Amino acid sequence: MKRLRELIGYVLPYKANLAVNIICNVLNAFLSLCTFLSVVPFLRILFSGSASEELVELPADADGIEFLSGQFDVFVRSVGAEVALFYLCLGIVVVTVLKNAVGYAALFSLATIRTGVSRDLRNILYVKILRLPMAWYTDARKGDAISRMTNDLMEVEFSIIGTIEILFKAPIAILVSLGTLFYLSWELTLFSISFLPLSGFVISRIAKSLKFAARKGKEELGGLVSILDETMAGMSVVKAFHAEDSFYGRFNASNQRFFKLMRRLYKREYLSSPVSEIVSLTVMSVLLWFGGKLVLSGEGMLTGDWFIGYLVVFSQIIPPARSISDGWFRIQKGSASLDRLDEILNAEEEDNAGKVLAKPLVSEIRFENITFGYGSKPVLQDVSFGIKKGESVALVGPSGSGKTTLIHLLARFYQIQDGSIVWDGTDISDFESSSYRAQLGLVTQESRLFNASVSQNIDMNSLAGGDLDERRLKSSAEAANALEFIEALEGRWNANVGDGGGKLSGGQRQRLSIARALYKDPPVLLLDEATSALDAASEQKVQEAIGRLMNGRTSLVVAHRLSTIRYAKKIIVLDEGRIQETGTHEELMTQEGLYHRLFTMQEFNQ
Ligand code: ADP
Repeated sequence: MKRLRELIGYVLPYKANLAVNIICNVLNAFLSLCTFLSVVPFLRILFSGSASEELVELPADADGIEFLSGQFDVFVRSVGAEVALFYLCLGIVVVTVLKNAVGYAALFSLATIRTGVSRDLRNILYVKILRLPMAWYTDARKGDAISRMTNDLMEVEFSIIGTIEILFKAPIAILVSLGTLFYLSWELTLFSISFLPLSGFVISRIAKSLKFAARKGKEELGGLVSILDETMAGMSVVKAFHAEDSFYGRFNASNQRFFKLMRRLYKREYLSSPVSEIVSLTVMSVLLWFGGKLVLSGEGMLTGDWFIGYLVVFSQIIPPARSISDGWFRIQKGSASLDRLDEILNAEEEDNAGKVLAKPLVSEIRFENITFGYGSKPVLQDVSFGIKKGESVALVGPSGSGKTTLIHLLARFYQIQDGSIVWDGTDISDFESSSYRAQLGLVTQESRLFNASVSQNIDMNSLAGGDLDERRLKSSAEAANALEFIEALEGRWNANVGDGGGKLSGGQRQRLSIARALYKDPPVLLLDEATSALDAASEQKVQEAIGRLMNGRTSLVVAHRLSTIRYAKKIIVLDEGRIQETGTHEELMTQEGLYHRLFTMQEFNQ
């Protein structure tokens, strides 16, 4: 029930379409009733129209059915049986055309609702994904999140149809038919609906077990998409290490589990149809027996032709009753998916409250007694140092010593557990995150590029269209030593860089991500220098670009190259999450400590 309410909540913005849907459903129910009941005059014409030549006087107290029958007989006699038959058939065609027209309008209004709700949910989920903290992405599997946004969302769309069916379509059809049945013979109708609780019980038993199976199935599918995503992203490694068989084995195992879960799901789902058919036909047979007896005995005023009409209308209760059970199945299945979407929708968002940081750094950024770990194991311990305005601080140390983590903490990607980072005297967690990040530029180690044009990769705010500052674009690319290769590309600024920048070389990718930071022109720069070796010419171009980028900015740099270290006013040497040494290149070399050792091992000047 809670789920039903949640689903209705998503449908409410489409009130107008829902109203059209309901009106059309009501019209459809009445028009259907007319077509079903047309069997009665048909039988009357065939069996009595030509025979009864003389008019039987209607009793003065004739009720609705008798009155209608009498009026029809008068009409048949006045125009003749054959003409009456013709009019009847013509009437059936007209009513059928009308019925289908409103049926179509009902379906079309439903199409707007289901696709509209899906669109809204997709947007809500995407915005949510943009707002989740970085820690969420390291914990969650990307493929599973994608599967939730596609497969689970589709299931929710189906359950929206189920909800509308259950609430606004089937009950109308059932009520119209049931009203008619009561009108035709209340005894018979009371007798037949006493069977409803039985069928309801059987159906709900089957539906109950469905949700659990559906949830398991969706989880497995999420795992499958994750494997696929990982395989495609790492295809070069899979091929080079000849790991196709083992990847296939992993995929096949998950696929097999998915197959079994889905087979179990369908086994239950498909059981609903035969079970409800058996129940309804049993009820029909009992009805034939009970009603037939009523007709034969002449009790209850039911004549043979009206009894057949009654049976036809009764049989028409079965499809909407069945669609209620189908709708209920869909809601159960969809509710497992909605649970999975809710896990994303209810995940805690990154905190964006706080003071707006309006002015650039005035004096200093201080790291004060930072202790931090991604899990329980600390990665940084009691780290303290400062970066004065305009100063460059270089972080060096063996791999895994916590350099990148410090950059991530300054970017506020993770919550600091102990200690704080203070910006001109204010804890950075007190700032509104978007205004704070507006002050920062980030160049990551792996130069993340997006499947878009060169210019859109430099000006990230133009991804959805919008104006580009061409002069700034050009000067940033020039300073990043990227202009030359961009102008040589086919399509130049509009050239697509491919997935992850796959159409460009490593050095070109680095220079584009430097151009991106130059274009933003932030006062504070976070630079995680790439470790991958470039050829000498490329290396020199990247170094020049980094030099221009750092020039005049306050920067925190994970440095691997001698030239970058030389720019730095201060070098911080980290080891296993602690600061080992601090000083300038010359000072640290004369100390002959860890820095000296790392340096002489030529760790950084590759
Ligand atoms: P460096 O940049 O000095 O090579 P990092 O700051 O990247 O080191 O990593 C420091 C430690 O933190 C490593 O032991 C690494 O395994 C761990 N680590 C880094 N990122 C994560 C993460 N997202 N989740 C869990 N552990 C992480």
